[in-house]
Amino acid sequence: MRRASHCGAGSASRRMFGMPNFPFRRAKVAARTFARTSAAFRAAGASAVVLLSLTLAACGSGSGGGAAGGGDKPVVLTTFTVLADVARNVAGDKLTVESITKAGAEIHGYEPTPGDIRKASKADLILDNGLNLEAWFAQFVEGLDVPHAVVSDGVEVMSISEDSYQGKPNPHAWMSPVNVQIYVDNMVKAFSELDPDNAAAFKANGDAYKAELQAVQDELKTSLAGLPENQRALVTCEGAFSYLARDAGLKEVYIWAVNAEQQATPQQITRAIEYVKANQVPAVFCESTVSDAPMQQVVGATGAKFGGVLYVDSLSEADGPVPTYLDLIRHDADLITKALAGAKP
Ligand SMILES: [Zn+2]
Repeated sequence: MRRASHCGAGSASRRMFGMPNFPFRRAKVAARTFARTSAAFRAAGASAVVLLSLTLAACGSGSGGGAAGGGDKPVVLTTFTVLADVARNVAGDKLTVESITKAGAEIHGYEPTPGDIRKASKADLILDNGLNLEAWFAQFVEGLDVPHAVVSDGVEVMSISEDSYQGKPNPHAWMSPVNVQIYVDNMVKAFSELDPDNAAAFKANGDAYKAELQAVQDELKTSLAGLPENQRALVTCEGAFSYLARDAGLKEVYIWAVNAEQQATPQQITRAIEYVKANQVPAVFCESTVSDAPMQQVVGATGAKFGGVLYVDSLSEADGPVPTYLDLIRHDADLITKALAGAKP
């Protein structure tokens, strides 16, 4: 487990978080004039100043104590809903687990609120995915005296193969349930350091959940193995399915690499249209946290149908289609299989 720096430690703490290219990445995104207006970037800059002052204000307010809403139990905050669900399975009833971002939120370019900062300053542990998923995270924890753990540590990382992110790690490692077994191991370790008295319970919970992850992984591979050879292309908005496509033996095609630049360029849309036409792809998909308008352009220009909404970066609300991570994998595998096999989605 890593401990966030105390107030005032700048670049050293960034390296600790494994995000040495964070400032470079923001600058690069900001330089793209087609994506967002300069007014939006001024607002983002202003909010960064607010964030910094709030962060500094949070320094010295103390940490721990489970005061983020969890009663007497230690409080664990995760950066997004998928991690929160996995963490709850490991924590059982021993810890209180909450997600900073809500169901349906865009997680790559999230702007933390003052309430998020206050809540985080009182948490006992923060979990982030790492692999540059949470562009906002290093800045978020910089002034907080709260330990944090990177749950993707140890996974076999796939690189992004196209666009300006070429060669950088694909952050969506949780789209392989086998990788999430490693996430679970990292959570068991972090929770046991946080609450040693309950280490045996975390280990038992983790082992039971890892068995469920293996079962859903086997289901996924079995269901997608039935697709014919000429219908094994998964065309999506974001390049978020590299790990799932690898596990299921599918060819992955996407409009944009990472949601931080989700405004598709004409060239990106043309590339997807050409692939769908050339390969007679029967169905294409988009994800729940972004607009599907660019993919509808692909649908309009080809004979493909819109196969439906996939879940990646967020769970649904409790009464929606994917309230848990296991539901998310089952939902996506089922939707992809039916749409590519020609059934109605
Ligand atoms: Zn994503």
